Amino acid sequence: MSSSLLDKATRIARDFDYPAENVQRGVAEYIKQSNEGLAKEGTTLSQIPTFVDAVPNGTEKGLYLAVDLGGTNFRVCSVLLHGDTTFSLTQSKILIPREMMASGTSKDLFLFLARQIESFLRIHHNDHFQAHLHRRREGSTEEDLFDLGFTFSFPVRQCGINRGTLIRWTKGFNIPDAVGHDVCALLQTAIDDLNLPVRVAALVNDTVGTLMARSYTSPGETGTFIGAIFGTGTNGAYVEKTKNITKLKDIKDVHFEDTTGEMIINAEWGSFDNQMSVLPTTVFDDELDADSNNPGVQMFEKRVSGMFLGEILRRALLSLHKDPEFGLFKADKNSNVVLPEKSMLFRQWGLDTSLLSSVEADSSKDLAEVKTALKDHLGIECPSLEECQAVKILVHAIGKRAARLSAVPLAAILVHTNKLASDDIIDVGVDGSLVEFYPNFEGHMREALREIPEVGVAGDKKIRIGISKDGSGVGAALIALIASKEQGITAP
Ligand code: BGC
Ligand code: MG
Repeated sequence: MSSSLLDKATRIARDFDYPAENVQRGVAEYIKQSNEGLAKEGTTLSQIPTFVDAVPNGTEKGLYLAVDLGGTNFRVCSVLLHGDTTFSLTQSKILIPREMMASGTSKDLFLFLARQIESFLRIHHNDHFQAHLHRRREGSTEEDLFDLGFTFSFPVRQCGINRGTLIRWTKGFNIPDAVGHDVCALLQTAIDDLNLPVRVAALVNDTVGTLMARSYTSPGETGTFIGAIFGTGTNGAYVEKTKNITKLKDIKDVHFEDTTGEMIINAEWGSFDNQMSVLPTTVFDDELDADSNNPGVQMFEKRVSGMFLGEILRRALLSLHKDPEFGLFKADKNSNVVLPEKSMLFRQWGLDTSLLSSVEADSSKDLAEVKTALKDHLGIECPSLEECQAVKILVHAIGKRAARLSAVPLAAILVHTNKLASDDIIDVGVDGSLVEFYPNFEGHMREALREIPEVGVAGDKKIRIGISKDGSGVGAALIALIASKEQGITAP
């Protein structure tokens, strides 16, 4: 029985192969869809203009607030940019209550966010806060407001640096009455309801924040070119020539003056190829999508990012568990394996990607770490060595496909912008739990990059990838700075 379990796992794993020729087809298709996205609105690859027209060079200065909504936590921080590529950051993290993410109203959500900002100010900037309250009581109109960068990591139709309406929720968020509304205005209203000394100055996607933060902290000759997230979700932003963004002329009520000839584009690559013309798929991917709250969208993200890899694995493990021939994690007379009825194996979204990272990291003979991870995440006691090996085979296949898929948008952006033509180093700032913690994620991604003829070994060498820690907070501060300058506002 045991050897056939491994055979079966190997067969399933093979469905996750993503060979070089498919990577190459993916790149060609990505370039096609990205051109469509620059030309008109409403395409799958949204290519959202951000109205951010320059990257920082490390000399920016000032104190800004930033909030970040988009993953598992809501973060509030204040960022002091020292102007010498360094910064100090004070932050608090709050787990977003699940019911607020998926069933509340937008009013509840934004009031919750504003309350977190209020308690942050009371703890960390109380003097400023009290002085503001005092001035308001005196009836003074003289304002001394914090400028806040709002990192909102969902697809938004932007028409200016601080305005944009939500196109759709992703990553398990689902608050229908917010769709179509300006999220900056929603946050500002909630802030004003609480009478806080805060002005929402900029709307920021986390990928744009990552790009900006990376460019501030490690400025090269030309600054950072791409910012990318491989975390709960996945997406990227890059510097495009304004003249190529031909759909700009169709966007109503644009607040932007083109002075640099460039603009950062938020690709929203999570929705690359929703039409499934080139993306690989398996029965587990298909079922995951059908049972999700947004079937048919974010199809690339559903194969690449942290929120989904655990669920793909869970479904694969469950199929082996239910299969009478293999009965993975089922006690029989040779094994003492115990799988609790309430195991997360039976719960949708029950498997965290950190399980995959721990399993992938264990290269020991007895797979002791895999055993511990199965116990911690699924409550499984005493799995056999073969069972652990089967889990490892599946994890490896799912993670490797995700990393190889990640090469597609990166390569496509570099080819489309003709960036590889020069000898310059191309700087890429990244963030997210997958690139940070999944063993060899970057290695697998680079291997796929080298298999793309237009990139090759030479191209791969020019690409410098660096983690941009706390990128979204620092990036939001930087964009709030740009926005407040444009609006003739100075920081407190
Ligand atoms: C969102 C993007 C975001 C990415 C990473 C995706 O689900 O659509 O806006 O950048 O997740 O957080
Ligand atoms: Mg994040």
